[in-house]
This record gives sequence, C-alpha cells and structure tokens, in this order.
Amino acid sequence: MPNVIDTPISFDYPQQDASGATCIAQAWAKTPPHLDGAPKAAVIERIKQLLVEKDAALVAHYYVDGDIQDLAMATGGYVADSLEMARFGKNHSAKNLIVAGVRFMGETAKILSPEKRIFMPDLDATCSLDLGCPADEFAAFRAKHPDRVVVVYANTSAAVKAQADWMVTSSCALAIVHQLKLEGKKILWAPDRHLGRYIQEQTGADMLLWNGACIVHDEFRAEELATLKAKHPNAMVLVHPESPQAVVDLADVVGSTSAMIKAVVEGSAAEYIVATDNGILHRMRQLAPHKKLIEAPTAGNSATCKSCAHCPWMAMNGLQGILDCLEKHSGEILVPEPTRSEALACIERMLAFTQNHPDLLAKAQHGFVKNIGAA
Ligand code: SF4
Repeated sequence: MPNVIDTPISFDYPQQDASGATCIAQAWAKTPPHLDGAPKAAVIERIKQLLVEKDAALVAHYYVDGDIQDLAMATGGYVADSLEMARFGKNHSAKNLIVAGVRFMGETAKILSPEKRIFMPDLDATCSLDLGCPADEFAAFRAKHPDRVVVVYANTSAAVKAQADWMVTSSCALAIVHQLKLEGKKILWAPDRHLGRYIQEQTGADMLLWNGACIVHDEFRAEELATLKAKHPNAMVLVHPESPQAVVDLADVVGSTSAMIKAVVEGSAAEYIVATDNGILHRMRQLAPHKKLIEAPTAGNSATCKSCAHCPWMAMNGLQGILDCLEKHSGEILVPEPTRSEALACIERMLAFTQNHPDLLAKAQHGFVKNIGAA
C-alpha cells in the first residue's frame, strides 16, 4: 500500500473569504455569463481579428467551454490535455499565448517560454490540487525525505515545481514512474493521492503520497456508477485516475483525457460512461458523433455537489475574458526568477522523456484497459 501523509486536505476551508464563502463558492460566483446569438458572434469575430493583429495563439483545455474550444481550433490554436498544451505553447511561433484553462497551465507556458507574453481569461482560475499543496508545507515534507526522487503532477504552482526532480501529467505519469522504478528509485509524489495510488498499484513503485484531491474526480461515486453500469451493460466505462479507487475498479479504461477521447473514437462500443469533467464531452461528440455518451454520477446533485462533474475554475474561462486579454492585456501570467528557472528543469525532463520514449507514452496514453482487447 502507498503511504499517504496524515494531514488534512487544505484546499477549501482555509481559503474562505471574509463572508465565509469557500474558494469553490468564490469560483462559481466568478463564472462569466454564457454568450449567445449576435453578442457572441461579435466577440468571436473581434477575437479572431486580434489574434492575427497581435500575433497571438489560443490554446484551450478539453474542460473549458465548447465555444472556446471551437475558437481555438478555428484560429490555428489547439485543444488538448495539459501535456500537449505545454508542448504546443513551447513550439508555436506566436509572440503571445492565450491559455484557456487554469493557472498552473499558464505558469507552465511562461516557464517554458519566458520570451512570450502569456495571458489567461481569469488569473483566479486555479485548481484544488494546486491550492492543497502550498509550497512551504511541501518544502517541509520534502526535507523529511531527502532519499526520494520528487515527482509532482502538473497541477501544482511554479514554486512547488521548483522543488521537484520531475513534473508529470496524467498522460505520461505511468511511463515515467515505471522507468524510475526500474532505476531503483524511491518516489515522493504530490499532490493527487488517487492518481498516486493508481500509479503505485500499476508500477509497484515505492511511493510516498501527498494528500491532495481534485474536487471534480473525487466526487464520482462507485455505488451509483455500478447501478448506472447495470442499466447500460454494454457501455464501456472510462475513468480518469484522479478518481477514487472504488470508481477506478469499475472502469474498462483508466486514462488521461487524451486516452479517454481515444477510447471513444476507436472503441467498438456504442455507449460510453464517462467519469471526468463533462467539458470533455464537447470534443468527444465532435470526434465520435454517433457514439452515446453518458456522464458518470457524482455525489449530490445541483446545489448539493461541489462540482457536479464540472470544474468551477475551468468554468471561469469565458469569451469576454479572452477578448480582454487581447484588447487590454489583462490577465498576464508572470513567474519571477529564480522560481521560473528552477521549475524549468523538471518540465524539460518530462518533455525530453516523452519525446525520447514515444513507445512508452503511446502505451500509457492508450489507458489501462480491462475486459476488452482494445480501447
Ligand atoms: S478538474 Fe480537478 S484537477 Fe482539473 S483543474 Fe479542476 S480541480 Fe484541478
């Protein structure tokens, strides 16, 4: 069994504002109104024009609003998981990047491309994994275990990455930890405890885990999923490994967002139960329009669930915010030195590994497939 440190997850209550609203409630309160009709068309046209004029590219995560994903694709930008977003930003020739996602994604782009200006629609768009792993507390934890290689998930601040030997994303974590295990390394992992446990189970590596969680994936429930699965016996169950173990145990495919999309596009099943942020359904429907997609159940409904399978921080990205980046230069991401250069090494190590081991990456990106021959 992996070791999980015995500290509370601190992403919510310590973040309350003066009125007592939690950071999650604060995020929901800041989600922009959805634009439609003529106002939406006008904003989209203006963004397209300014992207060209300002030599900018738009890169978006699969979890953001579908209109933003479509705009990124229509303007020569990119929609991807966090690994491919980082690669795209680094390799693109544009002087300015608009990152539609959450803060660590913008920081990663800036760390890799200090010569570019990086903007985000809302700088308050963060992540429960990032919030739950403060750099000073992580430094104290790391200092107690100097014999371990430090592997951190992309969903961390630049200040935490600056303390790491490796950064990984869910697309490449399995392949990298497996390689470290073959080299006889012991690992200190942060911050997602569910993903860490899953990787430990798959690789057998000696891993000490930070006690963090994603509020979206942590809410998927096994009992309700089993009931849904019984109603759809031929559906393939796709689960992101940030989900609790009992949910992962019910999956046909466990993998990153890219692996889940690949499973829907290439899978022979007609129905898919999807346990990840429901923003991903937009891209899945575009790539596999004839497949039936069913959202996995979460704890609670409506006002009683924290996320209802959609990340409040991803939901803070809106078209108007993108326009403000281009018109007003608002939302610029800055990562001070020496944090930037200290964080660079662990990201470059990951990029070099994924470039040099496409075979291992392809295997990991295919997802951990159970009960079927291919996903
Ligand atoms: S979906 Fe989860 S892991 Fe992703 S940004 Fe939101 S809180 Fe963080």
